[in-house]
Amino acid sequence: MTGPSPLLLGDYHVHSTFSDDARSTLAENIAAAHRAGLRTVRLTDHVRASTAWVPEFVAAVASEPVADGLTVLTGVEVKLLDVTGAVDTPADLVVGAGGVDAVVIGDHQFPGTDGPWSPEATKERLAAGLSADDALDLLIEASIRAMEGTPHAQLAHWFSILPKVGLAEEQLGASRLAAWAAAAAATGTIVEVNEKWACPGPDAVRALRAAGARIVASTDSHDAADVGRYDRVAAVLDAAEPEEQA
Ligand SMILES: [Zn+2]
Ligand SMILES: [Zn+2]
Repeated sequence: MTGPSPLLLGDYHVHSTFSDDARSTLAENIAAAHRAGLRTVRLTDHVRASTAWVPEFVAAVASEPVADGLTVLTGVEVKLLDVTGAVDTPADLVVGAGGVDAVVIGDHQFPGTDGPWSPEATKERLAAGLSADDALDLLIEASIRAMEGTPHAQLAHWFSILPKVGLAEEQLGASRLAAWAAAAAATGTIVEVNEKWACPGPDAVRALRAAGARIVASTDSHDAADVGRYDRVAAVLDAAEPEEQA
């Protein structure tokens, strides 16, 4: 063993009360990140195309005092919609100076050929003859197009959609993972290993490392008590390490 990964000194996906399903304020999350000894925290809240409060969120984060040694970044979590890689980003979203630092893309529904498919609708299609291979190809194609369409984004809990539709990350196989990881590297995409969903798994992490893509850790916390607290992410990162020589 080589000790805890330095990646665990960051938490790149922390929700505040700007998300209607989260409990802690921006200030509580920043304080929790500092107490947990983190170097970096990305405050990330859910948006949809119609969301109008992003400038308010950015201003609120900028007005919070931050202890020395902690870097506070911002993000908005958008949803992957379909196989074209479209995401539901607010039209007037500013990324970079004066805006959020990154778009965080979540795979909340299955990216279908004609729009997002709910997990139930996807299972019905699989039961009705859509092959697992074709579904996995759709997901990888959508993922790559999303990274190309929104470069320098961050992928949240990627592949969390698979168990929801009765598929498993292990079914992706090396060539799909390699294509996905190569696209992440080529587009400057950051990929989270996510505590809440324990994904992506070790094979995906190895593929990302082989491709030279950037990996971060995240809790996807909805309560400040969870900020920077890792168990499943540490296990995934450990499992992705090459076998130690005897
Ligand atoms: Zn999400
Ligand atoms: Zn989230």
